[in-house]
Amino acid sequence: MSLKKLICHCGEVDLEIKESEGALNKFLRCNCTLCKKKGYIMTFAPITDVKIVKGEDKLKLYQYHTKVAEHYFCSECGIYTHHKMRSRPDTFGLNVGCIDDIDQFKLENVGLNDGQNHPMDQKK
Ligand SMILES: [Zn+2]
Repeated sequence: MSLKKLICHCGEVDLEIKESEGALNKFLRCNCTLCKKKGYIMTFAPITDVKIVKGEDKLKLYQYHTKVAEHYFCSECGIYTHHKMRSRPDTFGLNVGCIDDIDQFKLENVGLNDGQNHPMDQKK
């Protein structure tokens, strides 16, 4: 099984992602209030397949709205690296731009996640 590196801009935060089945195979932009300002493409991996190699102490947590999702960014360079998802707490959303092996400008199948209408905000 191969490993992919996810590294912030300054290099202080370094994550290793196991390319298991079901990891790194889906690419989305999101229109929620946070993602639309960040403008990144995200991909996904099970939390158990992601290891923080270095920089855990540099990661800063940002939370808003229901404060369930955990959005992490490097406190040195400000780059968003990953987040623990609200709808799938067993999964990390990952910043494709930080994964050198994936060329985000060549991805053809980038979908749209309708974060403006998050499933957990809908009244049943
Ligand atoms: Zn950094």
